[in-house]
Amino acid sequence: MELHKLTIHELRDLLKKREVSAVDATRKVLERIDSVDDTIQAFITVDHNKALKQAEEADKLLQSGEGGELCGVPLSIKDVLCTKGIRTTCGSRILETFVPPYDATVVDKLNKSGAVTVGKVAMDEFAMGSTSENCAYRIPKNPWNPEYISGGSSGGSAASVAADECIASLGTDTGGSIRQPASHCGVVGMKPTYGRVSRYGLVAFASSLDQIGPITKDVRDCALLMNVISGYDPKDSTSVKRDVPDYSAALSKGLKGLKIGIPKEYFIQGLDAEVEKAVFNGIDILKEAGAETVEISLPHNDYCVAVYYMIAPAEASSNLARYDGVKYGYRDSSGESLQEMYRNTRSKGFGDEVKRRIVIGTYALSSGYYDAYYKKASQVRTLITEDFSKAYEKCDVIVSPVTPTPAWPIGEKIDDPLSMYLSDILTISANLAGIPGMSVPCGFSSKGLPIGLQFQAAHFQEEKLITTAFNLEQHLDLSPKRPEGL
Ligand code: GLN
Repeated sequence: MELHKLTIHELRDLLKKREVSAVDATRKVLERIDSVDDTIQAFITVDHNKALKQAEEADKLLQSGEGGELCGVPLSIKDVLCTKGIRTTCGSRILETFVPPYDATVVDKLNKSGAVTVGKVAMDEFAMGSTSENCAYRIPKNPWNPEYISGGSSGGSAASVAADECIASLGTDTGGSIRQPASHCGVVGMKPTYGRVSRYGLVAFASSLDQIGPITKDVRDCALLMNVISGYDPKDSTSVKRDVPDYSAALSKGLKGLKIGIPKEYFIQGLDAEVEKAVFNGIDILKEAGAETVEISLPHNDYCVAVYYMIAPAEASSNLARYDGVKYGYRDSSGESLQEMYRNTRSKGFGDEVKRRIVIGTYALSSGYYDAYYKKASQVRTLITEDFSKAYEKCDVIVSPVTPTPAWPIGEKIDDPLSMYLSDILTISANLAGIPGMSVPCGFSSKGLPIGLQFQAAHFQEEKLITTAFNLEQHLDLSPKRPEGL
């Protein structure tokens, strides 16, 4: 049986019935990585021995009828999440040798549930980018066509799921980095509400925007992973004390009476005609299934790219000050003085995009400019958040494309940061407002590349996203579900 091709819920059922073992499943996934990752380049680190050891432990638990929902399920993890004893590079040379002494809370929760970590996956350096081309080690390829980007910054997560190199993955989303690669790779991705999932052990990019979330083969798996990773954590002061619902229960709800908002500002100039068609086809399917549509407006959406590219670099410049060659990570000792050590370490350790953001962020925060840039951006951020509050008085879920175009060829935009930043226009406002968003496959371009549809909901309304996405998935016959010929 091709165990690596299964979803979490399919594999879990077989594991629970003891028709297959966790070791079998893990071996199959590791073999898959060995056979396709030379092409896909999703993994920075694969630890065969550790994975098989975890699988053996999972089998013992399964044998005794214990073990959580993920017991024995092989997962990949974005390399920005701390994993005790497994190197965590953040896609950066500056952390090339960093082996965390602790697990991120989400990793701890996966472990407690019995999941198996097969490896750490590639990403844009410190999660800054939209294509994963800013990774210092390798560029994960789109499994539907390896000449194309897998998206970013969680490109390795999405590519590893789409190429069946794992059963599911965890990514992070600061401005779209879960939803956008999920969309480009034809898989499901969710960015939860800010505060829903603990960020403890997530290496910070922009602390007020970062969230961890699932990237999965279907919506049912997304709900399953949300059940495991959500919840209050005393180690993260921004995590919210609020009960975690059973997200899987949202799967069985219908769409009758659900109001879907269509924001006129999201169907922008430059939106690819094939993307628009696939999204409206998805909307028609939801209407047939009982949902109503209403037109809504998010009037400050025009400012979201400018606001995000002020706030995110500002926070990043502060967060990245800790990489100075003193405490951990790479150190360049070729200079004579402490100043030279700092300069050489950071010059050699960071890549171009990270340096660009540090320069922008430091400038925006510097005295004399703070009011004009950072403070102004924070004020407009509030207006963007208020737009959403007003919109959710009229609708339950907002629907839109995830990205203005399908994936593009590797290299096409790497020298044009502005056009790269503009490609985030449909995803970043959810992070600015802290609301949850989800990406679900809804079609293919004429080049055979996946197209995703985005749902956004009010704070802590992830269940509505799951209900809507699951109904779409059930009624939409997308074939093939996974890329063929790998
Ligand atoms: N593409 C956006 C950026 O470059 C978002 C990245 C993210 O969500 N981590 O900042």
